[in-house]
Parts: sequence; C-alpha cells; structure tokens
Amino acid sequence: RAKAAGRNVFRFYEAGMDAAVAARNLLELDMREAIASGGFSLHYQPVVDLTKGGIGGFEALLRWQHPVRGAISPAEFIPIAEESGLIVPLGEWALREACCAAAAWPSDVRVAVNVSAVQFQQPGLEQSVVKALLASSLAPSRLELEITESVLLTDAETVIAILHRLRALGVRIALDDFGTGYSSLSYLRQFPFDKIKIDRSFIREIAEPNTAAIIRAVVALGTRLGIAITAEGVETADQLERVRLKGCTEVQGYLFSRPLPAAEALQFAQTGKWDAAA
Ligand code: C2E
Ligand code: MG
Ligand code: MG
Ligand code: MG
Repeated sequence: RAKAAGRNVFRFYEAGMDAAVAARNLLELDMREAIASGGFSLHYQPVVDLTKGGIGGFEALLRWQHPVRGAISPAEFIPIAEESGLIVPLGEWALREACCAAAAWPSDVRVAVNVSAVQFQQPGLEQSVVKALLASSLAPSRLELEITESVLLTDAETVIAILHRLRALGVRIALDDFGTGYSSLSYLRQFPFDKIKIDRSFIREIAEPNTAAIIRAVVALGTRLGIAITAEGVETADQLERVRLKGCTEVQGYLFSRPLPAAEALQFAQTGKWDAAA
C-alpha cells in the first residue's frame, strides 16, 4: 500500500511538473505574440534629485497585460524572456519606446532603461541604443542604462568594452540593485559607472546601525569616485530623511510615486507634482 501511494505521489509530482513546463511554454508563446502585437507597455517611476530639488528622471519598467491572466509581474516574465532570448527584441522595443517618451519631457529630465545581462551577450546592443537615440532625437546624456551585477559575471572584458563605447556616446551607466548580488569593490574600479543604486533591501533596514554604516560607506566611496548614489524603494518620510542625511543624491520609491503610465509620467514631468505631495 505504501508503495502504491508512493507511486501515486510520484505520478502526481510528475504531472505537476509537466503542467508547469507546459504553462511556461505557453507563456513564452504568448510573450512572442505580445511583442509582435503591442501587448507590452512601459510605466515610468519618478526619480527625485535631492540636489536640484525636483525630478531628475524616470525609470522605465515593463508591464504586461495578458489577455487572459491579466497583469503579469516582471518577476515572472523577465526570467522567461531571458531564458528564451525574447528579452533581446523586448529590450530593443523598451529602449525605443522609453527614448521616444523621454523626448517629450523637459530637457533636464532623464530616462533610465533596464538592460539584461543576456542583451550584453548578443551582438547589437550598442547598435540598438544608437538606433533608439536617433529615432527619438533624444540627447544621449538623457539616457541611462541600468545593469545589475549579473552582467559583470560573464566575460568582463567584453562588457567593459561595450560600456566604454556606450559612455563615449554620452550615455550614462548605472549599477542597479547594489548590494544584492556578488558585490565586489573591484567592480567599481574596473567598470565605468556613473551611478550606483542601493537596493531597497538596505533602505528597508536603514534604521539598523549596521545597515546604516554600510550605506554611509557606499556613499563615501561613491563621492570619492565621482559616482552618484540613488536610494531605491524609499517608502517612508523617515527613510527619506535618513538617506538624505547619509548623502544619497537621488531617491526613488512609493513615497513619491509608483511607476506611472506614460501619459501620467509626462504630466508629472511637466508639473513636478511630487513637490505638492511632499
Ligand atoms: P528594478 O530595476 O530594481 O526596478 C525597481 C523595482 O522596484 C520595480 O519593480 C518597482 O516598481 C519597484 N519599486 C519601486 N519603488 C518601490 C518601493 O518603494 N517599494 C517597493 N516594494 N518596490 C518598489 P517592477 O516594476 O516589478 O520590476 C521588477 C524588476 O524587473 C526590475 O527591478 C528589473 O530588474 C526588472 N525589469 C523591469 N522592467 C525591465 C526591462 O525593461 N528590462 C529588464 N531587463 N528588466 C526589467
Ligand atoms: Mg532598475
Ligand atoms: Mg533596482
Ligand atoms: Mg531589481
């Protein structure tokens, strides 16, 4: 009896695996279709520049409204897009779309676009950046590319060469989610970053003395190296006060605004509405 039960459990598990694989494959097909038919959109989250006291820019974030399942989170679809290679056309689309949106904002407002490690492993990233800039007539200095530490793990020399060429165009490079990956200080020496974004897991625990000390040290290092420091995931006035006192120059988080649809972001960029909300 135990044996029979065991076999049933095994079958059930196997069937569950098949269902998961099938669901994943279906989602990949749907994603392919959505890329072709305009099923993706970008939302834009304001980034507040504390030194200038206004909006420094917006981070573009992919959104997928699935026809049957409704909104699917990037945490679910980005890994599938990366495994399948679909992140390459999707990432190209996001670059073009974000640059076109930013071209309508005031000229001192930047746009940040997330770039996956997979996009660095394919030839043509640099070319798609150039194409997006030309198509939108956006000044290169208004485009910032956000990369995570995972980019730095594979073939550092190639990545460094690409980053240098992108910077030579005038594009800025930000290191995203700092502190969550295989953070190494040598990265800061080897790679040409304009900005470090401290991950929100640190901001959440900023009241703890050890976390506060780490943030202070990162800010001090950034200041010495001429790298701007952004605090991600600022949700409370207390967190804002603490990151400000520690010398972070930019802040981003629900305290100011959630990511907004393009039309609302445009309005936000033009009116600087965050001031009234503060
Ligand atoms: P990320 O680049 O670190 O983006 C910040 C994430 O934190 C966003 O989640 C944003 O909505 C969320 N967030 C912002 N402020 C707060 C806050 O105060 N509290 C909390 N709890 N969360 C906050 P989202 O939009 O779900 O995106 C998740 C991740 O998906 C992004 O993390 C990024 O790694 C990836 N992603 C999104 N769009 C793209 C894209 O176009 N290309 C690539 N390669 N990855 C993308
Ligand atoms: Mg980001
Ligand atoms: Mg981040
Ligand atoms: Mg992230």
